[in-house]
Amino acid sequence: MRKRVFGSIFLTALVTLLLTASLLLIAVHSGLSHDMRGRLANECSYIAAAIQDDDWQELVRIGRVYADRITLIGEDGAVLYDNESDVSGMENHASRPEVAAAMEKGVGESSRLSDTLSQQTYYYALRLGDGMVLRVASTADSALGALSTASPWIVLIILLALLVAAVLASWLTHVFLEPIVSLDLHEPLKNDAYDELSPLLHRMDKQNRKIASQLNELKRRQAEFDDITARMDEGLVMFSAQGGILFANRAVCAIFPEDSATGGYMTLCRDPEYVRVVEEALGGESAHGRMEKDGRVYSLTASSVAEDGQGHAAVLFVVDITERDQAERQRQEFTANVSHELKTPLTSIMGFAEIMENGIVKPEDIAPFAGKIRTEARRLLTLIEDIIRLSQLDEGGDPTPFETVELAALCGTVRDRLQHKAAEHKIMLSVAGAPVTVSGQRRTLEQMVFNLADNAIAYNKPGGSVLLETGEEGGAPFVRVSDTGIGIAPADQQRVFERFYRVDKSHSKMTGGTGLGLSIVKHGAAMHHAQIEMQSALGEGTKITLRFPKTQAE
Ligand code: ADP
Repeated sequence: MRKRVFGSIFLTALVTLLLTASLLLIAVHSGLSHDMRGRLANECSYIAAAIQDDDWQELVRIGRVYADRITLIGEDGAVLYDNESDVSGMENHASRPEVAAAMEKGVGESSRLSDTLSQQTYYYALRLGDGMVLRVASTADSALGALSTASPWIVLIILLALLVAAVLASWLTHVFLEPIVSLDLHEPLKNDAYDELSPLLHRMDKQNRKIASQLNELKRRQAEFDDITARMDEGLVMFSAQGGILFANRAVCAIFPEDSATGGYMTLCRDPEYVRVVEEALGGESAHGRMEKDGRVYSLTASSVAEDGQGHAAVLFVVDITERDQAERQRQEFTANVSHELKTPLTSIMGFAEIMENGIVKPEDIAPFAGKIRTEARRLLTLIEDIIRLSQLDEGGDPTPFETVELAALCGTVRDRLQHKAAEHKIMLSVAGAPVTVSGQRRTLEQMVFNLADNAIAYNKPGGSVLLETGEEGGAPFVRVSDTGIGIAPADQQRVFERFYRVDKSHSKMTGGTGLGLSIVKHGAAMHHAQIEMQSALGEGTKITLRFPKTQAE
């Protein structure tokens, strides 16, 4: 812009200077011409007066001293006298414009340029009384001639004009542009610039405020987005149409190596399922997949986002479904196990009933058969009760509110309920320890202790003992069931808490076990935030402790 302004001013100044100089030259030259013509008219009149009465001698004398040219032309146009040329060789002058005009009107004048255009000759003609025409001529430099004579000076003047124009243009450019260059665009209304700029500055101020508010809104949304995505447990990755990673949230960085979340989608992970899902989304199709990584299972959901004429960008959600996956598998296993477990006693019942129906059984055997049916039915009932209880605990669906439960008294109740069974198995069942309270569901806590004590009797040896202990260790209440039974091998110690897991299936069935007792204990413990500790040695006995959190005792 500076160059253009400078150029315009420079050109204007230069054109103005040169035009002024040219017009001055023309004015001066036309003034000189006018003077010249006046002078010739005067001189012609004087000479005409001097040569009255055909005084040729006087004309010749004047012609000799006179600097300009004098010509006397006869009535027919023939040259009679010329002070500069020989009249014999001169052509007829009747057709010369100034001579013709003088012959017709009395006076005539004209001017003619020399062949080189550098000189101009002015003529003035006057008709004398006898019809002859007296002509006076003077030659001077033409405008062009004057110019060429003065050309070195003119060049100098032009150079000077150029210099003056350049300096002037530079100064004016600075003066014009300074207020514009020094405009404060951040606060347009504080500028004291040209009035003509006022609408522009107001517009700029309005736009500035609009941009600032839009920027704030964008920042707010960005912060909101960052906050939400940072809190998300799900991994979120955004890919450009070219497959570059535009954004990856914190959860993604935890799943994949942190420095892999930059670059292309292949740097993040090479799992074939992941690659397929992302590539399908980049190809314009939404896709789902499942990926296993470091022992965890993830579901992949990629959505395609159309970008104007540049292919498809993609958004990928990575959700850890390990627990859901396990739960789903466990549910399937559980359903299969339940069907199997229910089928076994029912098959037995059907078998006994059929035998009895067919009348094969002797009358005295009917009572033992009915007893067997009753045992199987009881097993079935216990199994169904355990399944219902377990599914209640599993779904957290037992709405019974927590209350303060005293564990020593609870152990006393369990002992009373199992006393008969213990006696049958020749087991000594006792309760010891200090009273201690916890916050929990009385029914669930009693069932947990009952299941542990029931197992301690069932997997004991004749003459063995079972001890139900309560107390507090380090401020945390506990209840412990110890037996002197067959014990559990280290390999089975964790697995016994799984549903339907039994170390010795036939022994368990013989004792009326369902394989769900310890599962119920595990779920009950989780519900009460209690820890389960197991110490067991084969042939020596088992000790299972439920340790409740300290806060519950307060
Ligand atoms: P069950 O109804 O078969 O007793 P549980 O879930 O209560 O089912 O126990 C699972 C398995 O753990 C039992 O089948 C048994 O093999 C083993 N078990 C449980 N408690 C004891 C214990 N006190 N001593 C030895 N083995 C035990």
